[in-house]
Amino acid sequence: MPILPITIYGDKILRKKVDPITKIDDRTIELIKFMFDTMRNANGIGLAANQIGFNKSVFVIDVSPVEGYEKYKPITMINPRIINRSEETEAVEEGCLSIPDVRADVIRPKEITIIYQDIDLTEQKIDAADLYARVMQHEYDHLKGVLFTDLLDGETKKQIKKMLSKIQKRKIDIDYPISDSIDYKLK
Ligand code: ZN
Repeated sequence: MPILPITIYGDKILRKKVDPITKIDDRTIELIKFMFDTMRNANGIGLAANQIGFNKSVFVIDVSPVEGYEKYKPITMINPRIINRSEETEAVEEGCLSIPDVRADVIRPKEITIIYQDIDLTEQKIDAADLYARVMQHEYDHLKGVLFTDLLDGETKKQIKKMLSKIQKRKIDIDYPISDSIDYKLK
């Protein structure tokens, strides 16, 4: 089970817009498998490609470890596009494998409609709600270079500033592998 280092807050690749995937080759299939392995090893429920230093438009989700979501199957979303967001929003605490030990309430639409391509590059459409929709929005943001900490109010941002700077300097103690420099890119 290959576990790849996870890029962390301050790494340049997390702020770059990703490129679309136009063909699925063996390498892409392998990397998607590694993304699932890396996410599960870190007890995550979602992971975007740039979180392993892979600058492409794909994320993986597996919410089945969460109570009430056991029946949800793992899903790979390639070239995703959110085409509808509900007016109703909700504030729920979020965290991120790239921002260890920081958790804060994030306001997001409760429901979304998302179009994406599956592993055969066939277009699919899903209406998602609650945690499922939230994880999708969080990962979708990653692909645009946006982190959940960008979405917090000024006061909360102030509170976590020191923590973010510690993460950036890699002064953190976590039990999964992380990138070794801010220029980290998958080889
Ligand atoms: Zn994240």
